[in-house]
Amino acid sequence: MTDPKLDRTTTGLIHHPYTPPTGFNAPQPAIYKASTVIFDNAAAMRARDWKNKHGYTYGLHGTPTTFLLEERIATLEGGLQTLLVPSGLAAITLTDMALLVAGDEVLIPDNAYGPGRELARQELARWGITHRLYDPADPQALAAMLTPATKLVWVEAPGSVTMEFPDLPALVRAARSTGALVALDNTWGAGIAFDAFALPDGQGVDISVHALTKYPSGGGDVLMGSVTTRDMAVHQRLRATHMRMGWGIGANDAEAVLRSLPSLALRYAAHDAAARTLAQWWAVQPQVTQVLHPALPASPGHAHWQRLCTQAAGLFSVVFDERYSAAQVDAFVDALRLFKIGFSWAGPVSLVVPYKLSMLREQPAWHGTLVRFSLGLEAVDDLIADSKQALVALSAPAP
Ligand SMILES: *Cc1c(COP(=O)(O)O)cnc(C)c1O
Repeated sequence: MTDPKLDRTTTGLIHHPYTPPTGFNAPQPAIYKASTVIFDNAAAMRARDWKNKHGYTYGLHGTPTTFLLEERIATLEGGLQTLLVPSGLAAITLTDMALLVAGDEVLIPDNAYGPGRELARQELARWGITHRLYDPADPQALAAMLTPATKLVWVEAPGSVTMEFPDLPALVRAARSTGALVALDNTWGAGIAFDAFALPDGQGVDISVHALTKYPSGGGDVLMGSVTTRDMAVHQRLRATHMRMGWGIGANDAEAVLRSLPSLALRYAAHDAAARTLAQWWAVQPQVTQVLHPALPASPGHAHWQRLCTQAAGLFSVVFDERYSAAQVDAFVDALRLFKIGFSWAGPVSLVVPYKLSMLREQPAWHGTLVRFSLGLEAVDDLIADSKQALVALSAPAP
């Protein structure tokens, strides 16, 4: 009961003395929501320390819910510290902003996630940070591009959309030979396909960035990113920028990812199996010149994938014969019923996106039209039947 001297309908509800018994336990962790964090006394408020997970200072700097998720993502990635940000793209931005200053250069693979390249082209350039694109298939060319100004090298395995799998240990070795930090966009591998911090040949990346939007969420309904490290000095640079930028995440989103994480490995394997079945079906269709999936022997970098991974994400791209116009490929995409047209991936719904190849790579220039398939969790036979019926629209006379 509230102190009878206090107003029952206002103060009595806000400063209520009841606290439930401690020791409650359940499979899922509680959701703690806060902007304000309340201190026991003034000395505790003054002694607050947002840098380490020793206590709580403000909702932006962590709650029990976000600390839990950080620890679990660090475990998933084989790292030691993780920071959470509001999207996968924000994880790339945080890494660039924390580790680069005016006069520095960052090297980005030519097939990297497109918005990360745009960030360098449009935003980093305004701050005096230059970038160059490198061919991820050529570690020696990367080594030759390094200068004393190169402070950060991005790697991605495989490339977004075009799916070439690089010799990741060789790229990391080349990049680190001059002391540049190496950041991996690990969204495809998801912490499952390979161990980014313990690659073959004694190599490992310095930073692993992950769009938790994809497999860790698994629902197509959460946007979140993470930046994971094993080096405390690098982590503290990232953490300081993270704090000053005010990039927090919401507790309900953190809870959604915590709820999905236990099934991550099962879902990854299911998406993988479905994608390989459908990719093999596409590989023998006469309308297609190439199926880009690193587990297919004819796909670029297959041997590098095979050395590093047994698993693969549920993604592949189909390059259509150049006798089909972009409009005919669009007609095929529009004729699909189960596959929906949409960006992002790793949710229950299968998705496609048509791309002009010339937009994806600068060197070497590619031509024609590609459709990127992202396998959801529908029965694969239904997805094959859907692809088959939509192919009729591809061969229909161009409108
Ligand atoms: C989706 C994606 C991102 C960005 O994640 P968002 O949460 O959508 O911003 C970054 N890198 C890769 C490889 C992605 O697929």
